[in-house]
Amino acid sequence: MNEPTKTRLTTSKRKALRELMSRRLNTLVPLEGATIQSVAAACPKAVASPLRMRCLNPECIKKIARPAAGRLPLFCSRSCREAFDYERGELLADISVLNAAMQAGKGSHAERRIVQVELANKRWCLQRYVVPADRTQPEQMVNARQASTAGSKRANDL
Ligand SMILES: [Zn+2]
Repeated sequence: MNEPTKTRLTTSKRKALRELMSRRLNTLVPLEGATIQSVAAACPKAVASPLRMRCLNPECIKKIARPAAGRLPLFCSRSCREAFDYERGELLADISVLNAAMQAGKGSHAERRIVQVELANKRWCLQRYVVPADRTQPEQMVNARQASTAGSKRANDL
């Protein structure tokens, strides 16, 4: 009996995954073949963008429906946007303090360890609040592999 192991995809799942991958826009249109015509023709055949996405506030579990037209919201509410911006600002300020302490040096081994661990913890949290300087072009950050967005302009997107 050809029983699949837990670590391997079953044949049907593998087939479904291959089918899905073959329908991604970047598979249907190779980068070098991208023109308005070729991409416009491929879009209806490609895997559709989700109609609902999670609110960007990591503390929130709500989903936001994608409007048919107009600006695409990032947050479910104004309070989520404000909470996100507040927490992000506080984390960046905390990390600045921790970095300044590391730069200043000295202290015991145990004290340095406390500061290092807390810096790692704050960075771990900040990963959930990293947004590109221009929220309308997140691919700019992905391409540049930028970790910090300090000084980014505060967008008024919800
Ligand atoms: Zn929310």
